[in-house]
Amino acid sequence: RNPAANQQAPPAQPAQPAAPPAQQQKIKATFVTLARNSDLYTLSDSIRMIEDRFNKKFHYDWVFLNDDEFSEEFKEATTALVSGTTKYGLIPKEHWSYPEWIDQEKAALVREDMRERKIIYGHSESYRHMCRFESGFFWRQDILKDYEYYWRVEPDIKLYCDIDYDVFKWMKQNNKDYGFTISLPEYKETIPTLWQTVKEFTEKNPQYLAKNNMLEWLSNDGGNTYNGCHFWSNFEIGNLNFFRSEAYQKYFEHLDKAGGFFYERWGDAPVHSIAAALFLPKEKIHFFEDVGYYHVPFHNCPIDKDIRFERNCNCNPKEDFTWKAYSCTTKYYKVNQFKRQKGWEKFSG
Ligand code: GDP
Ligand code: MN
Repeated sequence: RNPAANQQAPPAQPAQPAAPPAQQQKIKATFVTLARNSDLYTLSDSIRMIEDRFNKKFHYDWVFLNDDEFSEEFKEATTALVSGTTKYGLIPKEHWSYPEWIDQEKAALVREDMRERKIIYGHSESYRHMCRFESGFFWRQDILKDYEYYWRVEPDIKLYCDIDYDVFKWMKQNNKDYGFTISLPEYKETIPTLWQTVKEFTEKNPQYLAKNNMLEWLSNDGGNTYNGCHFWSNFEIGNLNFFRSEAYQKYFEHLDKAGGFFYERWGDAPVHSIAAALFLPKEKIHFFEDVGYYHVPFHNCPIDKDIRFERNCNCNPKEDFTWKAYSCTTKYYKVNQFKRQKGWEKFSG
């Protein structure tokens, strides 16, 4: 392939409205948080920041999901913080347990082995149910059925900048289905057979591949191996209809049958990301460079001073992950032929 052949003036990232649009009708969108009762006070920090930076202007709903009953304390405190309507869903047992084809003894032995090898969360059973749930079931909850867009929020995150425009409306108007802030490679030890399993699926079902997909972002060798790049799913703004699609449902079913959520430690981030990169055309995937975001240990902070000042961002641009060596967002710019952000070289070290 000759990269010079189709070199055109690279399009810049689509512009985002700086000023709030006139108060218009809300669209069908909600925040979604999976949490335990014990997450209440770290989650309160996240909610407070999202409210102050965004939702106090828009009053979107907030759906909380749990594999256990939420306590009164949890419901009362979160309802007091959220400016939209809060809803609480109990996850059905079938969405948070072992499918019948899983050999639970084998799964337990894997956890012990991963504990010894010190693989992050490798020893944890609940973490696996969480990853499987976020991959295959969050979007199937009854409580989400009337919504079109969602924004996933976790405990202990930070939002660094004011968001004066309605991001959900922006997604809809610009025909975006998946939005991210940080991307990076997955730990290979957690996903030894994931890519092989994905390939089995796409070889049998080539009809699901988007014509203008982003395979090149996932693989450095034309699809033979996975480079591990994934959108960090603790932040996601997306279209639920993407997960509800036949392509995604069949894909999840195939992965679930293969057992890697339990026999390895497949994360929902690579599972979502591979699907988005293969089943969506590139232009439906959006990098939110302007929100300013933190989840331990990485930051997203607009490196452009004008943006930071205009939006009252309180982050250190030197910590921005976008252009660092380990970031996959650099490659995202490359495969999309986007013009890099002004001054990026100063923030790559
Ligand atoms: P990390 O970001 O990968 O370190 O994982 P977290 O501990 O933040 O978990 C990811 C999300 O799932 C967070 O929103 C947690 O609150 C939630 N979560 C993790 N484990 C459980 C669990 O066992 N039950 C419930 N209800 N939520 C969980
Ligand atoms: Mn987290």
